[in-house]
Amino acid sequence: MLYQRSSQLFADAEKVIPGGVNSPVRAFKGVGGTPIFVKSAKGAYLYDEDGNKLIDYINSWGPMILGHAHQPVVDAITERAQLGTSFGMPTELETKIAELAISMVPNIDKIRFVNSGTEACMSAIRLARGFTKRDKIIKFSGCYHGHSDSFLIAAGSGLSTFGVPNSPGVTQGTAKDTLLANYNDLESVSALFEANKNEIAAIIVEPVAGNMGCVPPLNGFLEGLRQLCSDNNALLIFDEVMTGFRLAKGGVQELYNIKADIVCFGKVIGGGLPVGAFAARNEIMNYLAPIGPVYQAGTLSGNPLAMAAGLSMLQSLNNDAEIFQRLEDKTAYLEAGIRRVLTNNNVVFTVNRVGSMISVHFDAEPVIDFQTAKNGDNESFKKFFHGLLNEGVYIAPSAYETWFITDALSYEDLDFTINAIKKVTKDF
Ligand SMILES: *Cc1c(COP(=O)(O)O)cnc(C)c1O
Repeated sequence: MLYQRSSQLFADAEKVIPGGVNSPVRAFKGVGGTPIFVKSAKGAYLYDEDGNKLIDYINSWGPMILGHAHQPVVDAITERAQLGTSFGMPTELETKIAELAISMVPNIDKIRFVNSGTEACMSAIRLARGFTKRDKIIKFSGCYHGHSDSFLIAAGSGLSTFGVPNSPGVTQGTAKDTLLANYNDLESVSALFEANKNEIAAIIVEPVAGNMGCVPPLNGFLEGLRQLCSDNNALLIFDEVMTGFRLAKGGVQELYNIKADIVCFGKVIGGGLPVGAFAARNEIMNYLAPIGPVYQAGTLSGNPLAMAAGLSMLQSLNNDAEIFQRLEDKTAYLEAGIRRVLTNNNVVFTVNRVGSMISVHFDAEPVIDFQTAKNGDNESFKKFFHGLLNEGVYIAPSAYETWFITDALSYEDLDFTINAIKKVTKDF
């Protein structure tokens, strides 16, 4: 395939945008080469600036669960745009999407809309800290909760129990309030509760991790977190920015029947427009301004175009009784195909999957946390990525990303993809 125009557009972009991109992972740093510039997309396919057609397994990193330019969503946005695009005043639309989201997700009474997943998670921990009157939070290595300061923290070295900044610009003062634990390791969590008695406001967790590849919670892990939080009067925050409205109507709370105290949303909930949200039971949500003391605000929060897109997306999901089963079936079919061809080609691999989230790791050992995710062979991944791209299959340009399966994918697309994987991994 040719990428002349994309290469030129990237060169132009680099002159005026840092690294040529508005979000780092788009820059192909993990795999080499230059990013593809998209011209348009429809259903399961991307069309780039050079005229290439690609089967898309990123789908805007999750939101396009029903495929690109899903007609009801496009119609909702265009109709709404005629009525004015922002007011900074309440609209009925906001109540409608709030009511629908609350009816779909268990265990939440109220929801607040923001503009991104980052904002949702950032606001959720502020709310948790305000509610519990404690400062510290626990997060897991390899889980991503957006780019706000409290989350850009790495595990401290040696015996230090608190985190250290993993980006310049994040202060030590902020870092000391974020404690790092290992995913799927309850002992690492209970040790932090032991060492920080009555200081921990909340645990924030991706209940099915998706930002180190797809890493499912082991049996008992989420139940254990729930118990530890209840025992220590801390709140359990499920960051369902990726999993919400994807793994089930009610997200992971429904899938594994576990109650979180605060739930964060993003991605699917905006139908492809910039939306995030966080939700909880009344007792917690009433702690927010203007009725409570915890401040949180946004000029464009609840923006009518974004709410129209999100409402249309949630309606499409809510009205389709088979959607999550279809996604499960398609992704299971893809998984079986990948396992078959990689085994036949004698490739060393691990495949992880929950519902329509799936990832391929070039390592034989189970991938259960950040450390095991890092063991994968990156050189193989690079070859895999560029090989698939050449065949017209677009997966995320990083070994640490989940593939997002969309309902727009046909079984022919899946067969095409499995065949491409067979071809690409022939002499791995
Ligand atoms: C994408 C993501 C975020 C951040 O959302 P943005 O909209 O990119 O700010 C937070 N948490 C999880 C689990 C995510 O996957």
